[in-house]
Amino acid sequence: MDKVTIFDTTLRDGEQAAGGTLNVQEKLEIARQLEKLGVDVIEAGFPITSPGDFEAVSLIAREVRTPVICVLTHANLDAVDKSWEAVKGAENPCIHIVLSSSDIHLFYQLRKSREEILEMSCSTVARARKHVSNIEFSAMDASRTDPAYIYQILEAVIDAGATTVNIPDTVGYATPQEFGDLIDGVFQNVPNIDRAVVSVHCHNDLGMAVANSLEALRRGARQVEGTINGIGERAGNASLEEIVMAIKTRKDFYNLTTGIDTRQIYRTSRLVSELTGTPVQPNKAIVGANAFRHASGLHQDGVIKMPSTFEIMDPKTVGIPGSSLVLGKTSGRHGFKERLAELGYSLPEEDFKRAFTAFKELADKKREVTDKDIESVVAEEQRTIAEAYRLDRIQVSCGDRGIPTAAVQMTTPEGEPRADSALGTGPVDATCKAIDKIVAVPCKLTEFTVKSITEGIDAIGEVLIRVESEGITYTGRGADTDIIVASAKAYINALNRLLAARKTVA
Ligand code: MN
Repeated sequence: MDKVTIFDTTLRDGEQAAGGTLNVQEKLEIARQLEKLGVDVIEAGFPITSPGDFEAVSLIAREVRTPVICVLTHANLDAVDKSWEAVKGAENPCIHIVLSSSDIHLFYQLRKSREEILEMSCSTVARARKHVSNIEFSAMDASRTDPAYIYQILEAVIDAGATTVNIPDTVGYATPQEFGDLIDGVFQNVPNIDRAVVSVHCHNDLGMAVANSLEALRRGARQVEGTINGIGERAGNASLEEIVMAIKTRKDFYNLTTGIDTRQIYRTSRLVSELTGTPVQPNKAIVGANAFRHASGLHQDGVIKMPSTFEIMDPKTVGIPGSSLVLGKTSGRHGFKERLAELGYSLPEEDFKRAFTAFKELADKKREVTDKDIESVVAEEQRTIAEAYRLDRIQVSCGDRGIPTAAVQMTTPEGEPRADSALGTGPVDATCKAIDKIVAVPCKLTEFTVKSITEGIDAIGEVLIRVESEGITYTGRGADTDIIVASAKAYINALNRLLAARKTVA
């Protein structure tokens, strides 16, 4: 079976569409998770477009060593050199040059002739070749380009040193049959195509991004580009988890394989959703909340008797934690450790102790502790580990007659306990104001979202907070059965991220 190269562009195409909401630490966190997921290539950013992207790419290049780290650049000699500066620290660097090829782009956007475009393509690939051996070239808007011109460009850039040639359906216009025929055409008409990997990059404007990508693989493409949860420009990119699970579930048909550890899919999906603040639609294939939920009585009956009656995939292979009761108040260290191992966590002893304490506290408040709760507890512990300021205790009073009041006690980065209190328009406002008095870093709260992770009135609530300071947005998360406590944790998490970012810059 041939292996398909999985090229993830969540941090480039995906984050571009999310409005650049991710800060440098968050991009690194996602890159680390993508490494765990087993993607072959991480497109870490478009460094010449912003200093923040440049910094994020350099950091990811230094820290994430297994996958290829790729940077996108315009077809311009200076841009190629600058982009190389961002990615040169990587173990396996790659430069990705993109240039439009369709007449419609050439005529209206670039105002260049076909000959000029061909020359720019070859000279920039040759320039990249001076820095690195791994070079990808994308003929933007390929699906709306005269095929004969595509063949000509691809042959020329492969001769100039491109090792991967990408055929994007940039505007999501192609149909599977047509797009597959274009891939066939590339194999038949580009004489040196055996010297390069054929890649595809599809957009979802007509809901066909995944179908087009899979058809291209069936016709011989061996790299596929996409994003987690399908986020990206407009209607998004091809959703990588759908492509990967289609290849795995229908290997009888595609006869292909990938290097993805599918059990990491769910966790990656959640992380990307949380950090970009882009929710996943409940009926989304593979990672939607309802993707494995059977509503029809007939189906439920079948699944109880034999899962394969109505389930083509086992939710465990995607890493979705079960929602059945697993642990309670009486569960001990051993049971908790075993359950963590089953969920794919191996925590160092110190972290395990903290997680176990948090679990026991939760079990006191909540009768049934499910896998989803455990995931949330561990995520919360991992978040707070490196925190400068920490929440010790909080007390709030509110109601329709009282004045919302919050008293907060925290530990400062120097290990000093500090307490203060404040009034507010509501309990969350009062809490944030009390925290502000202790942390004293000017910022504006721009977004506040709360959602429950599990079912039931005693569910864990998860809060996402964004704060803005000097034009940069920082995201904080917190989880607790009490949403005011979760809000305080999320706010402190955001402030700590802000302070950490300032330290990196200084
Ligand atoms: Mn794109």
